[in-house]
Amino acid sequence: MLKHSYIKWIFIVLIFGGFVTWFFDKIPLYVLISVLIFWLILTVWASFDMRMNYFVKTHSSNTKVNRNVIALTFDDGPTEITPEILNLLEKFNQKATFFCIGKQVEKYPEIAKRMVNEGHTIANHTWSHTNKMGFLPEKDVVNEIVSNQKTIKKATGKECHLFRPPFGVTNPNIAKACNKLNLLVIGWNIRSLDTVISSKTKILNRIIPRIKKGSVILLHDTSQKTADVLEQLLIDLKEKEFQSVPVDELLQIKAYKE
Ligand SMILES: [Zn+2]
Repeated sequence: MLKHSYIKWIFIVLIFGGFVTWFFDKIPLYVLISVLIFWLILTVWASFDMRMNYFVKTHSSNTKVNRNVIALTFDDGPTEITPEILNLLEKFNQKATFFCIGKQVEKYPEIAKRMVNEGHTIANHTWSHTNKMGFLPEKDVVNEIVSNQKTIKKATGKECHLFRPPFGVTNPNIAKACNKLNLLVIGWNIRSLDTVISSKTKILNRIIPRIKKGSVILLHDTSQKTADVLEQLLIDLKEKEFQSVPVDELLQIKAYKE
């Protein structure tokens, strides 16, 4: 059972018990309010940290692998930058995983097709990457995912088995949608912050010292800055004799449905 399921009941019992005890004047009200606030903070924190596996099981790295392998992952494409990313991966003979947005696949179907043709894995990152993702009802989460499944299938012939929620946010509705659609949730254990940090050196300094066997690295194929960072990162990986493989190969799971 997932943590969320039983922790929810522990708090419900605590709050009910606390309410009864407060009603009979045995504890002050602030104790009851503190428990409620703690539950709220835990829920919000867990929704932003997929690695807690709080709402849904998330695959974020492979700690058991004993080869020098990692998985480079790129979110939010395809964009006009993606061909340059693909050229670099080809030049250094490395494979990656692209968590694509449906709207972008519709705009650049040839790039999506190229990803698959060149041995990279394509995966689902919702249709629109809406900022409201964490607040959508289950039905709308399902629609976001299914629309993208159809678009990716039309462009590449592949039916994705892997999903990464936008912003790494999970909650009960996203968990239910993933279970319903039989999708595996993929996280990361190295976040480059390449959409936030402007200095390429700082981004590289966030990634390189953290690389270990089995790491999953989060990047975005949305800016020239990331393409520049990637080139240096690939040089570094080559020097350290690390190979990037598709995330499904690293985690030993299936990238696509049959
Ligand atoms: Zn994203």
